[in-house]
Amino acid sequence: MKKYIFHIDANSAYLSWQAVYDLQHGSNIDLRNIASAIGGDKSKRKGIILAKSLKAKKAGVKTGQPLFEALRACPKLTIVSPNYQLYMACSDEMMSIIQTFSEKVERFSVDECFMELSCKDPLTIAYQLKNTIYKTLGFTVNIGISTNKLLAKMGSELEKPNKVHTLFEDEIMEKMWPLPVNELFMVGRATNKKLRKYGINTIGQLAKTDIEFLSLMMKSHGRLIWHYANGLDSSPVKKDSRKIKGIGNSTTTPFDVDDIRYASLFILSLTEMVALRLRANNMMCHVVHVSYHRASQGGGQGRQRKLITPTDNTNTIYKIAMELFKEIWDEGPIRHFGVRVTMLNTAEIYQKSIFDEKNLEKKRRLNKHIDLLRVKYGSQTIKRASFIESGIKNINGGIHEEYPMMTSLL
Ligand SMILES: [Mg+2]
Repeated sequence: MKKYIFHIDANSAYLSWQAVYDLQHGSNIDLRNIASAIGGDKSKRKGIILAKSLKAKKAGVKTGQPLFEALRACPKLTIVSPNYQLYMACSDEMMSIIQTFSEKVERFSVDECFMELSCKDPLTIAYQLKNTIYKTLGFTVNIGISTNKLLAKMGSELEKPNKVHTLFEDEIMEKMWPLPVNELFMVGRATNKKLRKYGINTIGQLAKTDIEFLSLMMKSHGRLIWHYANGLDSSPVKKDSRKIKGIGNSTTTPFDVDDIRYASLFILSLTEMVALRLRANNMMCHVVHVSYHRASQGGGQGRQRKLITPTDNTNTIYKIAMELFKEIWDEGPIRHFGVRVTMLNTAEIYQKSIFDEKNLEKKRRLNKHIDLLRVKYGSQTIKRASFIESGIKNINGGIHEEYPMMTSLL
């Protein structure tokens, strides 16, 4: 087993997160498939473009561009104002999935993480992770694999979207050196200008430049980018200590659900994934929230309950979710279900106080073993009997697979 570093980067995060959210809440337009952008305030024609779809890009819309300029280039552009609360929630969801693969995960920005993992076959792991994020949350990521953070990050940038790339030391010359120098991490606009003035146009040329010359020109920054150009980086993956506020999961059903048996199966399948991610993060929840959206116009309903004792038990969360669902359901047809847990705390805090009970400890161990089997051998390994012959996946999440793969990402 060798130690590898993975860099996971959501593809045009703001745009795809908004698109997934809209689809899950009844929209039939996928922002990723039309000329669209996230940014500013359209009514005031103020602000700048933060993210754009492929169609918008083709029409000449650029990130950082003022809104009025973007609208001049593409008059039909659909503009959505940024929703940072949504981005933080999506970022948390992504983190919580990555943490089911490794304990050592560092959140690098709202849509990027580093993960350290010792394994035999990093490519298989990366594809599993990429597919799990897509199936659960409905958006695509790029993953770069290497032996240090810099190379993993450069690897994930190679070709987008929805790709896994390796960038090992022996691949630097072929994969990284031909790239324009401004594509190197930490080479910004000003540095790029300076380098170009001296005829340093590619990362390879920078790598072969005398480090003392760069140091003279740009002091410590010159040394840093020389190391990066040569693929050298020894910074460790720092385990993220920021707290995850909630873990949620929702799904659009392939048919109208108007029967309590099917409703309960969808809610159970969502709960399975929520609880698995909760336990993978070694957390317990104080609040369970359930929601649904009607098949026809007319919105939906949601309700939450605070628990007396926190839990990470699938059955407990499911039982409460069902009680809440029965309280709010008017028996009309449903097309979308959501289960979410919030007010999270680390499980250790509670272990002494509430796990004195033998049964609870046993249930916890059982849950952990099932989780391990599912992560290792796939979600179909262990199934509750109620799912057999139901036609419903035993673990469910994100956007339903009937939606096409996203191709309009940056
Ligand atoms: Mg990104």
